[in-house]
Amino acid sequence: MPNLDPRPPPRKGDGGRTGRHRAADWAHASDGDGFGPVSGRAVIVGCGVFGVAAAIALRGRGWDVVLLDQGEAPHPKATSNDLNRVIRADYGKDDFYVDLGLEAIAGWERWNETWPEPVYHPDGFLVLSKDGLEPGTFEGDSYRKLVERGVPVRVLEPAGVRARFPVWTPDQYAVAYFNPRAGWAEADRALTRLIEEARDLGADVRGAAAVAGLLETGGGVTGVELRDSGRVEGDVTLVAAGPWTPRLLPWLDDVMWPSGQPILYLRPERPDDYRAPRFSPWAADLANTGWYGISGLRDGRVKVAHHGEGARVDPGSDGLVVDEETERVFRRFLRANLPGLASAEVAGSRMCVYCDTWDGDFWIDHDPERPGLVVATGGSGHGFKFAPVLGPIIADVVERRENRWAHRFAWRARSGRRTEHARSLARPGEP
Ligand SMILES: Cc1cc2nc3c(=O)[nH]c(=O)nc-3n(C[C@H](O)[C@H](O)[C@H](O)COP(=O)(O)OP(=O)(O)OC[C@H]3O[C@@H](n4cnc5c(N)ncnc54)[C@H](O)[C@@H]3O)c2cc1C
Repeated sequence: MPNLDPRPPPRKGDGGRTGRHRAADWAHASDGDGFGPVSGRAVIVGCGVFGVAAAIALRGRGWDVVLLDQGEAPHPKATSNDLNRVIRADYGKDDFYVDLGLEAIAGWERWNETWPEPVYHPDGFLVLSKDGLEPGTFEGDSYRKLVERGVPVRVLEPAGVRARFPVWTPDQYAVAYFNPRAGWAEADRALTRLIEEARDLGADVRGAAAVAGLLETGGGVTGVELRDSGRVEGDVTLVAAGPWTPRLLPWLDDVMWPSGQPILYLRPERPDDYRAPRFSPWAADLANTGWYGISGLRDGRVKVAHHGEGARVDPGSDGLVVDEETERVFRRFLRANLPGLASAEVAGSRMCVYCDTWDGDFWIDHDPERPGLVVATGGSGHGFKFAPVLGPIIADVVERRENRWAHRFAWRARSGRRTEHARSLARPGEP
């Protein structure tokens, strides 16, 4: 096998984050000093957006890629394999995700132009706030950051919300804004398309290949052991197993864990009232309450969901259901906000599982203790939208190249619990 990285592994504890992104250590990685691009064989565990995006980028750079999933690919329980996901760059005062979000949206627009059918729907994002657009609020900060970047965001008083989006009862909100540079993606269709692309590029995509553990020889990781016997060897093993990651790599269970979040799909009597331009993805005092939703699907169903603390769950369990009490709380919220959905038939529900990190940032780095192992996960309930930009970030990390985004996702010690700025740590119905 080629010697992928002749340098010593990064030290732990430098500035709280380790990995190649400390520019001083690896500044010459891509400068033709012998540490530049070296391709080999990558074994990728997990066919969600993190794994597939990495597979496509690494194949594009000449790597042999084996992409494994425990079930069919896409797997029915993969976090990425849901019907829809919000695509937004509204990230409060967090410039990093605002800029990365806008870059990702440009990527979704490019995919829409080049893929046989569009999967990204630029319906915009309606953001309602109880406290107004004061600095220090998620809504006020997001509004200002987007305006600074030239996004034509419009402020709406409650009467304006009602006029433009008639199914809303916005009385309890002081103000709202509408961000036209946002929307939603048909997540399952996007994921299926990306898996096809990985195959077309020559990645060896294998379903029914559950990984039982890592192959460790000579002080490094050299591939994986499959549950049903057999092994797959490679120069780099990339674990992108979403919420299953801490089970496979238990030394990470202090810094990341699976959390179940409830989703209801409702079938309104008048589906067109819940489609653009009369409706759009929305967030209702999101960072305080967790409530958000998405425009109607092709089949008319409308998603309402909660971006909150969630409950620790087993991501593979068949018992992940939205219970009656949670449904009652959803309906109470809907009666006050979207009354046309309050009694609508439930036409699907899911406890979808985040892979939460302690600080809400993704986790993309070499394991400092295990040469040959790279981790790419920790979507923390907001990773899907970044699908168009994840591949190059992960591939740069694998190849130990400079990447302007990667420092935020580096290996790090746990500190106080944080989340991305849109997230509430409330349970449905609180406060
Ligand atoms: C309810 C909900 C709503 C969300 N809403 C949004 C949103 O609106 N916008 C947004 O940007 N993001 C959102 N997210 C987050 C986003 O969906 C995730 O961050 C992203 O999809 C995670 O992708 P992943 O590749 O890390 O994991 P996954 O998609 O879960 O993929 C992991 C894969 O690894 C496989 N695997 C696991 N263990 C093994 C093993 N031992 N062997 C082989 N294969 C294995 C699994 O089968 C799976 O296919 C949401 C998430 C949830 C749950």
